[in-house]
Amino acid sequence: MIEQIDIFLELQQIDDNIDEAERNKKTLPLKMKKIYKENLEVKNKLNLKTEEFKTLQVKMKRVELDLKEKSNKIEKHQEDLFGGKVSDIKELKQLQKVIGKYKEEKDQIEEDLLVFMEESENFQKIIIGFQEALKDKEEKYEKCKEETNANITKTVNMVNSLNNKRKKIIEKINDIRFLKQYELLRRDKGGDVILLVDNAICPGCFLDLPSDVVYHLKTDSSMVICPNCSRILIWRE
Ligand SMILES: [Zn+2]
Repeated sequence: MIEQIDIFLELQQIDDNIDEAERNKKTLPLKMKKIYKENLEVKNKLNLKTEEFKTLQVKMKRVELDLKEKSNKIEKHQEDLFGGKVSDIKELKQLQKVIGKYKEEKDQIEEDLLVFMEESENFQKIIIGFQEALKDKEEKYEKCKEETNANITKTVNMVNSLNNKRKKIIEKINDIRFLKQYELLRRDKGGDVILLVDNAICPGCFLDLPSDVVYHLKTDSSMVICPNCSRILIWRE
């Protein structure tokens, strides 16, 4: 019987290891998922800034055209002014007034353009920053993916080898009734269901064990089922 008890305890140890490996397998891709999510965030920010930059570039082009148009107009009016075609004083004054107005407008456009150019430089800096961050994150993700896949393979192999061990252990079990009880309990309660007892309290349900159960445990060196929680108990002092 003692040999059988050891077999059950070994089986339970193997099942604990299998459960732990399975839990581990589930958590392994979490780090990878986190990095993936971070990458996506950086990518979205980069796309947003790139779009904003494009809009600014369109705006700048329009302003540059506007500036050229004003320069052309000034040039044309100056030709009229100094070309000698116009001789009427009133008309000449009017021309000077128009040129003055265009020059003012041109100055304003040039000021706007300077602000846009500064903005454009800032955009480029930010975009380069995001591009570099994205490159780093993508490298980090690839590295993590490789590590995760290697660890998953390792874990799967470990579970396979544990399952083989399990099969061999089960072949050594004489009492199929206990095995069935064990498997049923493990499925229902999870975790350890074969428990070592050294006093009159069940370590599974924490209730007092009847004296005949304790006596049976102590004297027979066998596995006894707790009348309260049905876990399998073994006496070990
Ligand atoms: Zn119990």
